[in-house]
Amino acid sequence: MNSRVTNICVRSETAHEQSTPPSVSPIFQTAAFDFRDLEHLEGMVSGNEPGFMYTRDSNPNHNVFSQTVADMESAEAGVAAASGQGAMAATVLAHASAGDHVIAAKVLYGGTSQIVKFIRERHGIETTLVDANNPDEFAAAVQPNTKLAIVESISNPLIEVTDIQAVADAIGDVPLLVDNTFCTPVLLRPLELGASCVFHSASKYLNGHGDVMSGVVVGQRELMERVNEYISVFGANANPFECWLAVRGMRTLALRMERVSTTAAVIAEFLASNEFVSRVNYPGLADHASHDLARRILPDGCSGMISFELASGGADAVNRFMQAVPTIPFSPTLADARTTISHPASTSHRPLSPEDRADLGVTDSLVRLSIGLEDTELIKQELSDALAAPVQAT
Ligand SMILES: *Cc1c(COP(=O)(O)O)cnc(C)c1O
Repeated sequence: MNSRVTNICVRSETAHEQSTPPSVSPIFQTAAFDFRDLEHLEGMVSGNEPGFMYTRDSNPNHNVFSQTVADMESAEAGVAAASGQGAMAATVLAHASAGDHVIAAKVLYGGTSQIVKFIRERHGIETTLVDANNPDEFAAAVQPNTKLAIVESISNPLIEVTDIQAVADAIGDVPLLVDNTFCTPVLLRPLELGASCVFHSASKYLNGHGDVMSGVVVGQRELMERVNEYISVFGANANPFECWLAVRGMRTLALRMERVSTTAAVIAEFLASNEFVSRVNYPGLADHASHDLARRILPDGCSGMISFELASGGADAVNRFMQAVPTIPFSPTLADARTTISHPASTSHRPLSPEDRADLGVTDSLVRLSIGLEDTELIKQELSDALAAPVQAT
């Protein structure tokens, strides 16, 4: 074999172009970073010199992504993770160990509820579940060993808004973690309302194109360093390309949130007046339990999530409705650029017993809509036709 060619292949050039910096951050698709010598490494590890060592610990693309979210949320620092779940698990573990206590809202994203269940059943952390609409329950749940409380700014699937300020006041010095996935910092910044750290599944609105799996958490620098320790040690680190895509997606975040909020308000009104719909959950509607709170803390819009119940009832009717509207896909995620439909009883709330689902108001005829960027009139027409279709079919 030609050793000259072999060596050139192995030691291919690395681009270090700085005189004309790239307009868009490159993707630092590298496992590690090179050092000149031991002194260089020591300087970097001790924090005297900027730099990176190993992508499981940190990477320039992680930093661009997490710092952009931190800046939007008015936080000191942020940490990116492989998924929302990775970020949430690391954040919970960075706060609470065996013997500690965590308060969590009864209604949370299914994966977050699973984390709360795991820490209770497998990791010796006590938990108390409370009604997110009732700050008094949070106050009553605080114990001397309480290390964290977890709520969502808007919860799924009844699209209820949490009074973050009231919850923060109720728990005093206990840190409050807010899952702000449904609102994004464009519509709501929980740190301004007394939260201590903010979480996002970037797989949803932050990226907004349905092609990224990532999570991010932001807050005080010291806490973020602790969260990052868990992410690095447990290997829940983000991937540079996912971070790059998320940053690219976020360039249009403000425009997208404005658009989905405007469209969702129109679609919610339309659904509320439709004869085949018995109930619509959207905080922008005057009869929603969170309406007054939403007017106060979400002045720029209520985001793009709506749920509604079919009047004819039951999973069969939902099935026919889905079949009647193939242009709006049934996709068990949310915040895609496309409008999507989901069925909470058979997806996010599937692990619950029928009694628990009924208790939370998750009926078999409840449909969730994630409003996308299509023309409002098109979405309205397609829903209108599909809602009328099942009746014709029976
Ligand atoms: C999707 C989601 C999560 C979990 O994030 P992944 O990126 O799927 O791991 C957490 N909270 C909310 C509100 C979500 O919608």
